[in-house]
Amino acid sequence: MSKRVREIDFLRLKFQEYYLENKDKVDTPNKIHMREFGIERWDYAWKCSQRTEQDENGKTVSVGCGQSGTTYTKIAACPNCGSSDIQVTNWSRHIGFRSHDSLIKELVSLAPPSVYHSAAYYSYPVARHMHEKQWQGAELVFDIDADHLEVECTKDHDSWKCKNKECSETGKGNPPSEGCPSCGGLSFSSRKWVCNNCLGKAKDNTVKIVDEFLAGDLGITSEKIVLNYSGHRGYHIRVLDPSVFKLNAHARMEIIHHIAGLGFNSQKIVFQQGQGRVISDRNGMGWAGKTADALVEFIRNIDSYTGSERWVQPLKKHKSEALEGLLQNPPILSRKVKQVGVKSWQEIAVLAVANYGGEIDVPVTHDIHRVIRLIGSLNGKTGFEVTCLHRDQIDDFDPFDDAIAFKEGELKVRVSEKTIAVPEFRIGDDIFGPYLDQVVELPMAAAMFLICKGVARID
Ligand SMILES: [Zn+2]
Ligand SMILES: [Zn+2]
Ligand SMILES: [Zn+2]
Repeated sequence: MSKRVREIDFLRLKFQEYYLENKDKVDTPNKIHMREFGIERWDYAWKCSQRTEQDENGKTVSVGCGQSGTTYTKIAACPNCGSSDIQVTNWSRHIGFRSHDSLIKELVSLAPPSVYHSAAYYSYPVARHMHEKQWQGAELVFDIDADHLEVECTKDHDSWKCKNKECSETGKGNPPSEGCPSCGGLSFSSRKWVCNNCLGKAKDNTVKIVDEFLAGDLGITSEKIVLNYSGHRGYHIRVLDPSVFKLNAHARMEIIHHIAGLGFNSQKIVFQQGQGRVISDRNGMGWAGKTADALVEFIRNIDSYTGSERWVQPLKKHKSEALEGLLQNPPILSRKVKQVGVKSWQEIAVLAVANYGGEIDVPVTHDIHRVIRLIGSLNGKTGFEVTCLHRDQIDDFDPFDDAIAFKEGELKVRVSEKTIAVPEFRIGDDIFGPYLDQVVELPMAAAMFLICKGVARID
């Protein structure tokens, strides 16, 4: 039984220290009194339901003991009476604060692994039910997470373990969708990691969405956009322009579709004119102006394209001529690219646009009641800071340096992984790992990262 009691007590103490010393870093979301807060706890609160029931003989019996308590592990039955009719949660929602001071007091007292607040404004944020809260609008938020990007490094640094106790098979990458190769089981725990590559891809995507779509297409100025690093695998974009607050879920979905390049009609952008083929130039509005660049990106990577459409071979053969034409200003569809007609170019454009579009976690933007991580809080999955960034700061931002919260001291930890080594990771200029079943003395940030990740114990 791994209860991690010492580890949790230690993390809680360190997080508390952080909140005591970094009060000013913790954000006060505007109109704080209209926001719902959600706080994750280190432990689970449980409550056993008590009620009366008729047994098979028609006799009235009482079920459950009605007790409540807390535990460090998620339990499935009441520790007192064994009833399985219990509620277990490590979440508190419907919390409200009226000031930065009261928020800080709570954070210092709980030192929680995660704290979130609603992107929405409510008249009664602490009401228990959504319809009672009275929604008054919401920021437009985007979550760009390495989980949703197709990144190669997942194969190297993520791993899974079969949850079947008799099996416990492990492997690298994402859990096998066809089931455990050893026992056929479908239930896995997975260990997600972060590296320069996947966080770099998430950052590039964030910058693209801000520059090309929010600023470029929707005309939202940079002072109305707040960015932040999530403290783990991605970035968030928040649009704080009152013009977006009242957008309903449907309108938000349209923005998602636009950014993702879904439902793109290429016939208005790539078409036949007399003897020649035309493509919209870069001054065009919205996707019209981006299609040439999307095609350039697509054709640059054409050698790794696995489709079998009729235009694939000709395009591979005439790759440089195609690029040469598209890189001109205004761009052209080069006549030297033989055997690729206007219909084919239209097909290619649809694929190119879908590839070029921003990758966002759809439910986050779509759901007008969503909660987002509080800027300046700590992420309990890493011990890193949820870091506020403006557009002019993100290019130089290094999550493995600039989001490090604990810069002092050292700690000896035992890396508990016994089959698949804990991958290499970087803190500042230093590279650590890989580690397998060993005791290591590490700088505090590195040790806390491993403890937060659940792969090391305090030795
Ligand atoms: Zn009970
Ligand atoms: Zn298995
Ligand atoms: Zn990676």
